Amino acid sequence: MINKTHWTWIGASLLALTVSACGRDEAPAEPAPTVAADTAPAEVSPAAGQSDASRAYQERCDVGLASVEALLAALEEPRDDYTLATVFEPFNELTRQIDNNMFYAQLMFYAHPDAEVRRIAGECDQKFQGLNTRLFLSGPVFEAFAAVDVSGEDAETRYFAEKQRLQFKLNGVSQDEATRAKIRAVSDEIVALENEFAANIASDVRSVKVDSPENLAGLPADWIESHPPGDDGRITITTQYPDYVPVMRYAEDEDLRRELYFDYNNLAYPANKEVLAKLVAKRNELAGLTGFETWADAMNVTKMSGSAAEVRRFIDKAADAARDRAHADAAVYLDRLRQDSPEAGAVAPWQTSYLGNKLRKELFSMDAAEVRPYFEYQKVRDGIFELTKDLFGYTIVPIDAEVWHPSVQVYEMWDGDQLLGTFYLDMHPRKGKFNHAAMFQMDVGQEGQHLPSAALLTNLPGENGKGYLELRDVETFLHEFGHLVHWLTMNHQRWVRNTMPEWDFIEAPSQMLEYWLYDTPTVQRFATNDAGEPIPAEMVQQTLDAKAFGEGITVFSQMELADLSLSLHDRDPASFDIDGLSEELDEEYRLFGEAGGTHHYAAFSHLGNAPYAASYYLYMWSLVIADDMFSRFQTEGLRNRDTSFSYRDEVLVPGGSRPAAESVRAFLGRPYNFDAFQERLGDRPEPGDTGAGK
Ligand SMILES: [Zn+2]
Repeated sequence: MINKTHWTWIGASLLALTVSACGRDEAPAEPAPTVAADTAPAEVSPAAGQSDASRAYQERCDVGLASVEALLAALEEPRDDYTLATVFEPFNELTRQIDNNMFYAQLMFYAHPDAEVRRIAGECDQKFQGLNTRLFLSGPVFEAFAAVDVSGEDAETRYFAEKQRLQFKLNGVSQDEATRAKIRAVSDEIVALENEFAANIASDVRSVKVDSPENLAGLPADWIESHPPGDDGRITITTQYPDYVPVMRYAEDEDLRRELYFDYNNLAYPANKEVLAKLVAKRNELAGLTGFETWADAMNVTKMSGSAAEVRRFIDKAADAARDRAHADAAVYLDRLRQDSPEAGAVAPWQTSYLGNKLRKELFSMDAAEVRPYFEYQKVRDGIFELTKDLFGYTIVPIDAEVWHPSVQVYEMWDGDQLLGTFYLDMHPRKGKFNHAAMFQMDVGQEGQHLPSAALLTNLPGENGKGYLELRDVETFLHEFGHLVHWLTMNHQRWVRNTMPEWDFIEAPSQMLEYWLYDTPTVQRFATNDAGEPIPAEMVQQTLDAKAFGEGITVFSQMELADLSLSLHDRDPASFDIDGLSEELDEEYRLFGEAGGTHHYAAFSHLGNAPYAASYYLYMWSLVIADDMFSRFQTEGLRNRDTSFSYRDEVLVPGGSRPAAESVRAFLGRPYNFDAFQERLGDRPEPGDTGAGK
């Protein structure tokens, strides 16, 4: 995902760039990637008062605010003529500074090791979001913008003008002053609630203790080694991602899995139930103030989908496409459970990951523990850099630069002799850090003027010595890197707010890149074990078959989350209780047994992230397009440079300077469609059909 966002609520899609929150995690069936581990360095919080870092950041924020306020005031002044030079260019500089400051504040909010800096960053972010709201509610700026004649300008400029004018209207610029004041106030409240929702998730880490390594039977040896007993002689296992996922997948101790499952699925509960209820109510109020019936309508009008009704139609269509297969796959889980427990009535949610691993091993000879030694963090990173070069011709070189934590590494990405931008890798867990995986935008680029930058935040092992990644971690790394390549490639537009395409396209390039992980020639270049042997081709095929086996369950479960995100925002908030709504959807999409007393929505971070909050469907929407675009690679070759360069130039480079559907059509030579996605879902692998069998 791209992390949090800024912009104002409504038009979110066009305005903002934000970080990408990636990660289709949070699926009820399989644990979602969440957070980090507890091996992190101690916090560097100041003992009392402000640290040097927090004073420096406060000053940076204040300087940025003063600059933006001055630019906004100047833009509101009447002028003699209204042209690109007198209106669009000052607007461009203003939005660039707003975006850069918001992005940096969000990054610091989630990444800085000093708690005081994080606190200041949260406040600073709110102030810049407030200024963005003010800008799009400014009558004088809107009038100046509307007065510029763009009829003789190029297509990009006309598209930019059209999008921004729409954004002003969507944000309520035409309302009376009292309404606009109310819009500003409610928008500010929403931003504060979104930050509170996120902070509650980041700060809630729960843990379970076990008496001895014997309780950890089934877990990989390297994982057990990295969890020695503490002073009390007991071993602590947290709800953070590097602990949660392996325990749910490998631990033979079912009580341990059950206990950890309940902790994990109650993170940020009950605190976030109340925050979410307020947030949903405020968003609905804001939608009403700007002339929309619901917030889901307001949030989707600038996406490819265009409306909440179209989103609903899409969710139903994708769920229908996956339903039979999801139930068929779930029945295989139950059969497997009954081999060990003949009287079992249902598969409990804390059994699914564990059984899934067993089934993949038994049906497809795919053993996650055997795959893991081939994915050492540094080799994976270097392999992803090499893939970027092979596909897009980009070279990546490490550089020295100032960072917010000593573990952060900095690189430049070059296209021949042209510098595309800079990126930061903050890849390992530590206390207080963002606990999912996302690309965070930093600087916005501008053609011929400014270069972009971004940061990846993940919670992977490998900070001290070797760390081995689960296959899913490698997918996540590739996914986020896909966002990064997209960001640095598209971020050279003349008009800053022409950078980002529609939000329901944003996850297409990142999800498509994941498919290269299952391409033997690609993965064998970097997936080697400690003896230097590449991952066997047979094992790659097994992982692919095993992944396909669970695909129906994945899609169906993701549609439950999409339905939840839409349903929270497409109706009167007074008409439902969040727990009731969530339970209703659990029932509607149920594939496995119930787990009463869990509240997974409370830590569903996308609900606090405006562009995703009512629009979690956008992952699947993007995946439908990704599957279609990938079909051209399947025909022409995954390492065919003509194809990958065409993709780079037609899809990545244009960014938001034209509608995403046009970019995809230029690459495919036809409009995109649902066929490749449907076909992939319909192609259910039969055990023994492919791969090596047993
Ligand atoms: Zn993503």
